Amino acid sequence: MTMGISRRTFLVGAGAGAVAVLLASCTGEQPTPPGPTTTAPDPSPSTPPPTASAIVPAAFARSAWAEDPFARGAVSFTPPTASPADREALAQPVDGRLFFAGEATDTEAPGTMRGAYDSGRRVADEVIDVAADGERVAVVGAGIAGAIAARRLVEAGYDVVVIEARDRVGGRVHSSDETWAPEGAEPGEGVVPQLGAWLLTEDDVRSDVGQRLTVLGLRTASLDDELAVSPDGEVEVPSSDAVTVALEQAGTAASDESLADALEAAGADLDDPALASLLADLAATSGADAAELSSWYPPVLPAPALDAVVEDMAPLAEMPLTDLQVMRQTAVVGVVHDDTGVSLRLGTGEALSVDRVVLTVPLGVLKDEGIEFEPPLPFAHRGAIAALGMGDVETVWLRFDDDFWQTDAAVWHVVGGDATIRTWINLRPATGENVLVGRVGGEAARELAALSDDEVVARAVASLSAFAPAAG
Ligand SMILES: Cc1cc2nc3c(=O)[nH]c(=O)nc-3n(C[C@H](O)[C@H](O)[C@H](O)COP(=O)(O)OP(=O)(O)OC[C@H]3O[C@@H](n4cnc5c(N)ncnc54)[C@H](O)[C@@H]3O)c2cc1C
Repeated sequence: MTMGISRRTFLVGAGAGAVAVLLASCTGEQPTPPGPTTTAPDPSPSTPPPTASAIVPAAFARSAWAEDPFARGAVSFTPPTASPADREALAQPVDGRLFFAGEATDTEAPGTMRGAYDSGRRVADEVIDVAADGERVAVVGAGIAGAIAARRLVEAGYDVVVIEARDRVGGRVHSSDETWAPEGAEPGEGVVPQLGAWLLTEDDVRSDVGQRLTVLGLRTASLDDELAVSPDGEVEVPSSDAVTVALEQAGTAASDESLADALEAAGADLDDPALASLLADLAATSGADAAELSSWYPPVLPAPALDAVVEDMAPLAEMPLTDLQVMRQTAVVGVVHDDTGVSLRLGTGEALSVDRVVLTVPLGVLKDEGIEFEPPLPFAHRGAIAALGMGDVETVWLRFDDDFWQTDAAVWHVVGGDATIRTWINLRPATGENVLVGRVGGEAARELAALSDDEVVARAVASLSAFAPAAG
C-alpha cells in the first residue's frame, strides 16, 4: 500500500539548536534554514549508484550531534583506559555544593535514557540529604536527568531554577516538529522523526523511564524481526557469538584491552563482513568502534528486540518541568563555589547566586571545558572526565512515497560492500508508514556528520541499494 503525501517535502533536521526546516521541493521554494547546519538537499541526489536509481526519498531528516555545542557528541562510552569507577568518581558531590548527574554518571545504564533518568533521581536525593529547607538550587541542563532532578527537588520544597542553553528542553531526546503522516491522517497517526533517543530494550521498558513513557501514553512500535543483505543477496543475520567469546576471554586477561584487540586475540577476523556489520550495529548504540571500547566493561550488545517510540517525545522532559522556572537559551559558562554557596556565570554576562548546583551537562561539554570551574574540579573528577569517552551516533530518517523494499523485517543489516550506513530500521510493518531509519556510530557517524545534506542522502540511498529490487 502506498501512503504518499500530496506534495513532496524534505524535512531537514539538525541536533544543534533544535533546527528543522521544511523544503517544498515541488515548488522549488528554499526558505532560509534557521540553523547553521541545515542546507537544502537536492531531492534527487545527482549521483546515485545504478542499483539505487529506484530509491528516491520524499522526505529526509538527519541529526548532527557531533557538531552540537551543547552535547559535543552523542553518548558516553567506556574505553580501555576507564571503568565504572570513573562514572562513580564523576558523580561525587564537590564540597556539598556541586552535584553531578546525567547519563555519563550512571553505572547501570550509561549512554541511555534509563541511565539519565536514574541519575536525576539519585542526584536529587543527594542534595536533599545535605540541603536545608527552602534552599535555592540551580539545575543546569533540562534533559531527562535535569528534568527529573528538578521535579524531585521542587516536590521536596526547594526553590529550584533550571538553566538550559537551548531554546527547548529534552536535550538528547529531540523529536522533530513534523509528523510524517498521510494526508487526512487522524491526530496520533503517522511517525515523528527522532533525532536523538527513541529505542528501548526490554530492560529499559521495565525501568522507571519505560514506565514514564507508558504513563505518558506515547505510541511505540515493536522491532523484533531482522534481515541481513549483502550485495549478492540475503545472508544470515550477523551473530554476536564471536564478540561474546572474545569478551569472555578478555575478562580473564591481565589488563583491559580494546574490544578489537580482544576479538583478534580470540581469533576473530575483523575484516569478516558479518562481524563488521555487527560491530557497526554496536557502534550505532555505543557511539564507539571496537578499537575504542573496553573489553572489560563493554556496552550492551545489540538487542534482539527493541521498542521504538514513534511520536513526539517532548513530554518526557516537559511534564516534570511543568510550572518550574526554566531559563532557556541561557548557557552556564562558569561555576564558582566556596563554603557559602555557588555563583553561576551565564553566557549572557550575568551571574546567578544559589546555595547548590546540580550539573547535568553532557560529558562532551565537560571534556571540551565548555564550563570553567573555580576552584578547578578535584583530580578525581578531571581524571574521570578525561578517561571516559564521548561517542558519536547519528541518525538519518527517510520517507518514501512508495516502498521499494519487499520485506517486513524491522531491523536490517547491510553485510559487505562499502555502505556507510549498515543498520536500518524499517517502520513500515509496525506503523504503515514507508519510513526507514539509518543508524551509524563511531567513525562512520563522524564521517556522516561532516557531509552536506545532499551527500548524506546520497550515502543513505547507496547504503540501501542492496534492498532495492534492481540489486536482487
Ligand atoms: C542520536 C542519539 C540516539 C540515541 N538513542 C538512544 C536510544 O535509542 N535509547 C536510549 O535509551 N538512549 C539513546 N540515546 C542516549 C540518550 O539520548 C541520552 O543518554 C539521554 O537523553 C541523556 O540525557 P541527559 O539528561 O543525561 O543529557 P542531555 O539530554 O544531553 O541533557 C543535558 C542538557 O544540558 C544542556 N546544556 C549543555 N551545556 C549547557 C550549558 N553550558 N549550560 C546550560 N545547559 C547546558 C543541554 O542543552 C541539554 O539539554 C541516544 C542519543 C543520541 C544522541
